[in-house]
Amino acid sequence: MSLNEFLAALDALAAEAPDRIAAAADLEAWTEVRNALVGRQAGRLTEILAGLGALPKEDRREAGQRANAVKVGIEEALDTRRAALAAAAATSGPALDLSMPARARWIGAVHPVSLVIDDVIEIFRELGFSIAIGPEAEHAWYNFGALNFPADHPAMDMHDTLYLGDEQVLRTHTSPVQVRTMQRYRPPIRVLAPGNVYRRDFFDPSHAPMFSQIEGLVVDEGVSFADLKATLSHFARRFFGASTRTRFRPSYFPFTEPSAEMDVQCGVCGGGGCAVCKQSGWVEILGSGMVHPAVLEHAGIDSERYTGWAFGMGPARTAISRHGIPDIRILYDSDVRFLEQFAR
Ligand SMILES: [Zn+2]
Repeated sequence: MSLNEFLAALDALAAEAPDRIAAAADLEAWTEVRNALVGRQAGRLTEILAGLGALPKEDRREAGQRANAVKVGIEEALDTRRAALAAAAATSGPALDLSMPARARWIGAVHPVSLVIDDVIEIFRELGFSIAIGPEAEHAWYNFGALNFPADHPAMDMHDTLYLGDEQVLRTHTSPVQVRTMQRYRPPIRVLAPGNVYRRDFFDPSHAPMFSQIEGLVVDEGVSFADLKATLSHFARRFFGASTRTRFRPSYFPFTEPSAEMDVQCGVCGGGGCAVCKQSGWVEILGSGMVHPAVLEHAGIDSERYTGWAFGMGPARTAISRHGIPDIRILYDSDVRFLEQFAR
């Protein structure tokens, strides 16, 4: 091969390269063109350069310089074309298929415990109750002393109560709200106090260290146990169904006297006995009683003139018996598959 032949081949390559590069319509075609022009395996330039060693020694320097200039020119044109193709791909994006089904919208649901609280509040609102709230970090006096707990009551033990210091506790029940409400408002009082309470418990199928309670309090002249029984029985029929039967069992709480627990007929077996009601036919729903005169006096209310009644219930337990939930921990797992069942 002569120098002239070598240079003519280079010129031919340099002449055809721009059109071929411009014709590459996408990155795939661009890659093919690059391989055909300057590819190491089968590129035309590589073929031409293979003839370099056959040239007379004195011609090789010029031939090499010309070949390099052609190579640089082709590579610049390739880079420019590839950048243009990449920019076009970025702005056009992937093909848009308007017929594809949309991703299903996930609609949140109210937590089953909140549903119970909402339902309880709605029923008592109809009876003229308003809502009262109090602090979760509470003075021990409001949590125990004002509620007539004797100084040696086991509930005050460090094993049962989370203390925040000598005088402060995480409230173990919502009953401190009773005292705060009576200190702040004169009778007649009709309030409902929903809120979180804390116990020194570990999670197990029926216990949690934090759970909600709803407390109710009525204080007025001439309020009797008959009012308590009638109101709570009405509540049970509104909440569980018009044919729901209730029963009251004597109980003990430091802040009420007399005290009673209210059971409703088991909704799962209808009273015949099943695992939910432990074969008794009844499910305990709440604790209640006439406000102890000492509690009225602690809150600055004349216990000779006024009487009152109160109740407290656990919405989590109510939700459990309402829905047949086998383990209280499920309520606190935040498992969306469980929670979305309660969408209304
Ligand atoms: Zn039952």
